[in-house]
Amino acid sequence: SAVIKLKNINKHYQMGSQVFKALDDVNIEIEENEYVAIIGPSGSGKSTLMNLLGCLDSPTSGEYYLKNSLVKDMTETELAQQRNKSVGFIFQSFNLLPRVTAHENVMQPLVYRFITASKRKAMALESLKRVGLEDKVNHLSSQLSGGQRQRVAIARALVTKPHILLGDEPTGNLDSKTTKDIMALFDQLHDEGHTIILVTHEQEIADHCQRVIRLVDGKVVNDSRKEVLHV
Ligand code: ADP
Ligand code: ADP
Repeated sequence: SAVIKLKNINKHYQMGSQVFKALDDVNIEIEENEYVAIIGPSGSGKSTLMNLLGCLDSPTSGEYYLKNSLVKDMTETELAQQRNKSVGFIFQSFNLLPRVTAHENVMQPLVYRFITASKRKAMALESLKRVGLEDKVNHLSSQLSGGQRQRVAIARALVTKPHILLGDEPTGNLDSKTTKDIMALFDQLHDEGHTIILVTHEQEIADHCQRVIRLVDGKVVNDSRKEVLHV
């Protein structure tokens, strides 16, 4: 069944006397282990949609079911749990703390949990291994390349073991070689069973995904699945 179900979702902003529809009656269902690209022109609502999916923001109206639970019925505590248990968020700008090590950045989502320090360290190390950064554990963010920083950001998103990974232009700041490496990492995570949803304006990345959802003016204007053979 669908891990994500959006029913008649609207996100409206009141701009003076005008209502601006950032999302306009959006209906999307995403099944477990899908690999989805969200595309569309600047201002079409992609980031707004991702923020809703990541439970960072709520819709003006409509229903969002995350793993069959209605998000608006969740308490703050449940929401906070879902936010990092079910969904991992990876941003274009990485959002890493610059003055701390890769290891500490990856441990950060675990800090407010009832997990011992040694367990936190072990979980972060395991996560850094999964993205191939075990030899950069003690490097500061400022000592890492763009691709390595994005790997740290992915490791941080993985550390809470979320099922769904959301990437908002996750390769937006990377050169084409590094973009390929990061996409190979997303492929690997997809093969391991994660559901992956990426916002992108790069055709190559959209082509790489198995389903492409196109937004224009806050509306879904195209939603197509395809058979993909990874070569
Ligand atoms: P995209 O990610 O596709 O570039 P966004 O989701 O960031 O688009 O924005 C969609 C539209 O919603 C834009 O026109 C933007 O100006 C508007 N918007 C986003 N956030 C706000 C806000 N907090 N208040 C008013 N308008 C907003
Ligand atoms: P990006 O496209 O890199 O994701 P943002 O999400 O920060 O950038 O902004 C996307 C669009 O939303 C921009 O056009 C910005 O002007 C607009 N926007 C963001 N926040 C607001 C806001 N509070 N009020 C009005 N417009 C906003």
